[in-house]
Amino acid sequence: MLVLGSANADLVVPVPHRPGAGETVLGGDAAVLPGGKGANTAVAAARLGAPVAFAGAVGADQYGDLLRDSLTSAGVRTDHLRTSARPTGLAYITVTPDGENSIVVSPGANSDVGDADVDALTWDGVSTLVCSLEVPVDTVARAVAAAAAHGVRPVLNLSPVVPVPAGTLALLDPLIVNEHEAAALAGSPEGLLALGPRSAVVTLGARGALVVTPEGTAEVGAPSVDVVDTTGAGDAFAGALAFGLSSGSSLVEAAAFAARVAALSVTAAGAQPSYPTLDRVREIG
Ligand code: ATP
Repeated sequence: MLVLGSANADLVVPVPHRPGAGETVLGGDAAVLPGGKGANTAVAAARLGAPVAFAGAVGADQYGDLLRDSLTSAGVRTDHLRTSARPTGLAYITVTPDGENSIVVSPGANSDVGDADVDALTWDGVSTLVCSLEVPVDTVARAVAAAAAHGVRPVLNLSPVVPVPAGTLALLDPLIVNEHEAAALAGSPEGLLALGPRSAVVTLGARGALVVTPEGTAEVGAPSVDVVDTTGAGDAFAGALAFGLSSGSSLVEAAAFAARVAALSVTAAGAQPSYPTLDRVREIG
């Protein structure tokens, strides 16, 4: 499997309240965690045991090293992770006592993932490409087209939502969105197919997910779990879905598996540290 997307360092600070204009707030100890939708997705799939390569860019700085290390230690191949002249992408995250977070993202090197990175990809042995949108949409469009030209199945987690060319949407199998993104894009889950993808998957938080194909809509449930931290649940879902498809599962089977993996991921803190191994997923049946 190949994942093309973002890699960010998440700088997380607990604060009593969000600072207003001109205000300084004293927070708790900062945590620096590996993140970014692309890197999270790659780590989720690798933790399950998939051979995964990650394509993206980080800077020549300590955060780039953090991300390289986290990918490598999860078993993700980083030959297509380029070191850019721009700084590593950063997400500045403040978390208030009610659990709400406010985030400023500085994309940095992620903005620099471009045509040359796609043209350098190697497709031998790859059956599935997974992309998400914290890198330029033109780059994603080129990667999806290249995947299709090489007989590789393109999957897109359209998060955050940005306009995507119709020719790109038409190649997706599936387009993955959460229910808010689905409502913004198409009004209803079934309406997503009118945008052109071969199939669509809509994640529904604690309620699992919907699989929408021209044959109809199937619902898959998520197990009921004690929620600790939902950060990165959507990325875990995308990585696990692609793992299932690469292992030969049908789309509905892969979505049911992904819903279980993502549910387990919300039972532990953080994004990447919370992603389960295949043995752990089997333990819950
Ligand atoms: P995030 O932005 O937090 O990464 P998302 O909004 O992209 O997530 P969700 O639909 O909230 O995506 O969640 C993705 C998947 O995670 C769900 O399909 C489900 O499998 C699992 N999940 C999320 N929240 C819960 C929960 N409270 N209980 C069980 N499973 C959950």
